[in-house]
Amino acid sequence: MIARKKLVAGNWKMNGSLVANETLIKGFLPEVTDAVDVVVFVPAPYLAQVQGLCQGSAVKWGAQDVSSMPNGAYTGEVSLPMLEEFGVTHVLVGHSERRTYHFESSDAVADKALAAIEASIVPIVCVGETLQEREAGRVVEVINAQLDPVFDRCGRYAQNGKWPVIVAYEPVWAIGTGVTASPEQAQEVHAAIRQRVQEKLGLEVAQSTRVLYGGSVKPSNAAEIFAKNDIDGGLIGGAALSSSDFSGIIRAAR
Ligand code: PEP
Repeated sequence: MIARKKLVAGNWKMNGSLVANETLIKGFLPEVTDAVDVVVFVPAPYLAQVQGLCQGSAVKWGAQDVSSMPNGAYTGEVSLPMLEEFGVTHVLVGHSERRTYHFESSDAVADKALAAIEASIVPIVCVGETLQEREAGRVVEVINAQLDPVFDRCGRYAQNGKWPVIVAYEPVWAIGTGVTASPEQAQEVHAAIRQRVQEKLGLEVAQSTRVLYGGSVKPSNAAEIFAKNDIDGGLIGGAALSSSDFSGIIRAAR
């Protein structure tokens, strides 16, 4: 059984300023050790600033979205070669806010994941059901439908028992609402995701692939959630904007 290192990822969403970012990073940096991986997903204009603040530390930084195209007439988009110039190692794809407000399909999300892998940047593929879908008993069906295009396009990059993809399970009803899935509810879905990875890519890949939980994680509930077998850390929104909260969540992941 491969030990999976916990990962705590902060999604700043469309928040921050030069002054606030510096205060935030300097506040949680002392908590970061080799025991836990930490990545912050920052708005694109701040990548250079965050690179300057985090370079040489154990903190990695990433973007909240990316184009699957390398360059060209795609107004408003940011490409992987651009992210590479700023030392980006990870990128979020398919966050529910992108799927909802920007109508991103699971095929488009999988195209982005593939382009990221081909640029040696790790995609964190976000999946999750709405409350209506949960109440209709469709959680696993919805998540498999979101993940299957990713297996189809990116599965061939699973090699030697490793897959350069991280999955984030984020129930839409728990994002930014203050309502968290119970550790048991989250574990149940994480186990189903790992099962799907096993069906598609084999046991070894399933055991090495990290699956994060996201949705109203706070210092007060993080340890209980991260203690579950198939939960390998968290994707943190609101609480990633406070250095004391983010520090508390990093401590909970140790
Ligand atoms: C998120 O944006 O991915 C998220 C999980 O947000 P929050 O922690 O605020 O629910």
